[in-house]
Amino acid sequence: PTMAHSKALLVLENFIGGKFVPCSSYIDSYNPSTGDVYCRVPDSGKEEVEAAVKAAKDAFPIWSSKNPLERSQILNKLADLIERDLEAFAQAESKDQGKTITFARTVDIPRAVHNFRFFASSILHHVTECTEMPAMGCVHYTSRAPVGVAGLISPWNLPLYLLTWKIAPAIACGNTVVAKPSEMTSVTAWMMCKLLEKAGVPPGVVNVVLGTGAKAGEALVCHPEVPLISFTGSTLTAQRITEKSAPHCKRLSLELGGKNPAIIFDDADLSQCIPTTVRSSFANQGEICLCTSRIFVQRGIYSEFLKRFVAEAKKWKTGNPSDPTIDVGALISKEHLEKVRNYVKKAQAEGAKVLCGEGVDPLDLPPGNQKGYFMLPTVIAEVKDGSCCMQEEIFGPVTCVVAFDTEEEVIKRANGVKYGLAATVWSSNVGRVHRVAHRLQSGLVWTNCWLVRDLNLPFGGMKASGIGREGAKDSYEFFTEVKTITIKH
Ligand code: NAD
Repeated sequence: PTMAHSKALLVLENFIGGKFVPCSSYIDSYNPSTGDVYCRVPDSGKEEVEAAVKAAKDAFPIWSSKNPLERSQILNKLADLIERDLEAFAQAESKDQGKTITFARTVDIPRAVHNFRFFASSILHHVTECTEMPAMGCVHYTSRAPVGVAGLISPWNLPLYLLTWKIAPAIACGNTVVAKPSEMTSVTAWMMCKLLEKAGVPPGVVNVVLGTGAKAGEALVCHPEVPLISFTGSTLTAQRITEKSAPHCKRLSLELGGKNPAIIFDDADLSQCIPTTVRSSFANQGEICLCTSRIFVQRGIYSEFLKRFVAEAKKWKTGNPSDPTIDVGALISKEHLEKVRNYVKKAQAEGAKVLCGEGVDPLDLPPGNQKGYFMLPTVIAEVKDGSCCMQEEIFGPVTCVVAFDTEEEVIKRANGVKYGLAATVWSSNVGRVHRVAHRLQSGLVWTNCWLVRDLNLPFGGMKASGIGREGAKDSYEFFTEVKTITIKH
């Protein structure tokens, strides 16, 4: 691209050692709701990662030796500054990602603020272990210390939300970080860097290197002086990261994809269940790792459920994400939209029925959004359990509804995928919800609700959905090295 071309665009820079640094080459970033290039993102590689790791290493001795209370105050200050600029962050996130302004205002940015406040508080309340061996005259205790330079890699669906869910615990524990957000959604990470100095975060504690996974991400994963990698993204990328980091024996936390079931028994309160399950299927265009994509409904209520569910899904308005009355924004990219559409086509080819949305209902878009990556909330029925729509992560506004007869049967079918991230169970029978929750292969089970989170407790998936957990205690353990010390008196 020519200089003239680049002048009109937002141009991002890396943030290394407390300074914004331009890069020698850039990649285009699109506004998903218009299809236009509006931003240029550094195409960083080994050199930039090397500089960022060096800055992080240099900052480590001072940052790691600070009193946790001091670090906590800095995190709180940063939270206040992001909150002060909430509207600007929300606008930027919506434009960069395609999500609705309402979602960015009420979910993404408030949660980024909360991530810093939460870890600013939780870091002050950990207690380490101690045991006694009177017969040996010994006491044992554990001590925890920050590990070093943490590599943090995050995806495009909840950009600032998921990046700060890693940065906050990493630096609260005394590590310094090199963060690499998704090349498709780098703007809010760059905006956050502008607030670090004012918050009191010393230069080099938080470094942000922008670029692709293959170049910048891989350079970070392969860097010998980055002993731990916290990654959120797809299962395929996690396999590559695992391979690439194996020669260095790195500590890995992997938060990956899902194929999340909702199980709806005939005694469920449908007035609660239907709107919540529409939300769990289509919130953020279905681009949340926790979104429902397989809905199992007990035979007796199947047709009533389907009728009411489709009617409710049709109420969700798709359109310009900056319009606060819109429920469904644009998908992240042209390629992703194509991929999601193909799943619907494959399902139809296999004989499934598309009850609303893609290919069935008209998509009316304002003139400015005609080239955006939009898709209506789509409900598919009569899908076979083995079909790709019931097995693979689609990560778009598509959900499948099927019938089941017994508790035993539905548990087996819900568990019959390679993933195990989140599940919802709907029933008014307390015994049954406990029984089913225990038997589901899923890191999270919500009964009669969805997405209600206590950040104190573990978050993460089983099977192909991940390795490790994040949360107050889990993130503390991941981002610290433990030592057992024995004293003989
Ligand atoms: P992705 O795996 O393509 O990319 C994630 C990040 O990894 C990006 O920053 C990317 O640039 C980087 N990356 C890609 N290749 C890399 C490599 N070889 N080495 C190092 N880094 C590399 O995922 P995505 O498409 O951005 O995100 C969607 C996926 O993320 C979905 O599968 C979704 O379920 C998952 N996700 C999981 C959670 C969770 O908490 N479990 C949360 C959100 C999203």
